[in-house]
Amino acid sequence: MADAPISIDRAKCTGCGKCVKGCGFEALRLAEAPGANKLGRLAEVDPSACRACSACVKACPFGAISEVKAEVVGTEGLDAYRDVWVFAEQTGGKIAEVAFELLGKGLELKAQRGDGCRLCAVLLGSGITPAMTDALSSAGADVVYVVDDPKLADYEANVYVDAVSKLICKHKPEVVLAGATAVGRAFFARVAVRVRTGLTADCTALKIEETKNKDTGAMQMLLHQTRPAFGGNIMATIMTPNHRPQMATVRPKVFKRKPGGESAGGKAEVAREVLDLIAPRTRLAKVTRDPDAVDIAAAEVLVSGGRGLKSAAAFDQLRELASLLGGEVAASRAAVDAGWVPQTRQVGQTGKAVAPKLYLCFGISGAIQHLEGIRGADKIIAVNNDPEAPIFGVADVGIVGDALEIIPALVAELKKGRE
Ligand code: FAD
Repeated sequence: MADAPISIDRAKCTGCGKCVKGCGFEALRLAEAPGANKLGRLAEVDPSACRACSACVKACPFGAISEVKAEVVGTEGLDAYRDVWVFAEQTGGKIAEVAFELLGKGLELKAQRGDGCRLCAVLLGSGITPAMTDALSSAGADVVYVVDDPKLADYEANVYVDAVSKLICKHKPEVVLAGATAVGRAFFARVAVRVRTGLTADCTALKIEETKNKDTGAMQMLLHQTRPAFGGNIMATIMTPNHRPQMATVRPKVFKRKPGGESAGGKAEVAREVLDLIAPRTRLAKVTRDPDAVDIAAAEVLVSGGRGLKSAAAFDQLRELASLLGGEVAASRAAVDAGWVPQTRQVGQTGKAVAPKLYLCFGISGAIQHLEGIRGADKIIAVNNDPEAPIFGVADVGIVGDALEIIPALVAELKKGRE
């Protein structure tokens, strides 16, 4: 059984049971202990249920419960770690947009960190061109680490893990960021395990701030990694005080690309790295693209539907409206779960984060998990028949009405305008 994060002093416990009532996780109970105290019972903790929230420490009027401080085994020589790194994902020579979005955030983090911190991009592949390193340079990178190796010609997680882990061990960055894309999600967590540090996935906010290390009491410049937790009902800020690097992933479109970059030193230094990489275990035989695949994250106009549309047929009308507006169809999770729309078009915490110029939504209530995906939208127009729907709290324009009447009316009006 695991060690409990709390300790109960049998000499002080009166068996009153206040800790049992104070525990929100049913981790405490009273066990018979004849003669131990007047009531003949003692509090006991189930270590596997205890969440170390310390509510019981506060609930006990007799000071019988205390927290057990775990021994901190962190990365050695934390001070040797410096710089903010961004993993510049690329496919077929095209750098993913999320890398530029992260470099934009990286510029802010570099300024917050100060003390000679540099912003660095990490570019892996085979046949890396100067145009690629130039693009990263003009987005603000001070240094571009390039690993140009035939073993990196096609993405394979094992080789990517090997390359990035080796670079981290060699250069010791303080912060490493990657896009939470299919590639980033697949290999980045494994890098964190390899270099024995923590990783916060799907962050929605990042900043570096002087913070007190609760274990050592020392003041440190730490990366505050904020992300939704408990089904999106709260925002948790997570820190990695004792291990380096501090690693985080961010979904595309959560941060905005900074126009033009702001590299103070002009052109970035390109550092070509030669690494002894493991051999790929797989061979990419063929790439087949889904002709219907669409990246809603890249769309400038999204016409989105929810459970309020009541049927797959209503989405046919929505598709017509989207095409008249030159946009794409998107949906809430409820509409996806109902089978009306493929998951690739889901917007929100477990779907995609989007940043269109116009987000037009019909019959979507505006649950927090959905709103998480549309924070980057410039203009939101919402149609809902419930005037109290939370979507109206974020919409620029709110229309209270029946979406099933408004959609065909809009389609007819737009068609008329084109005749
Ligand atoms: P509902 O909440 O049922 O809302 C339907 C709305 O339609 C209502 O406001 C109603 O007033 C309105 N309506 C009904 N009839 C009409 C009409 N004729 N005309 C106009 N309006 C009408 N959700 C997401 O969308 N994306 C996510 O990524 C996501 N991730 C999640 C992750 C977790 C861990 C959890 C727990 C939940 C997640 N959800 C997500 C689900 C989310 O909590 C909501 O359940 C979901 O967003 C509701 O979808 P909806 O607004 O379409 O449906």
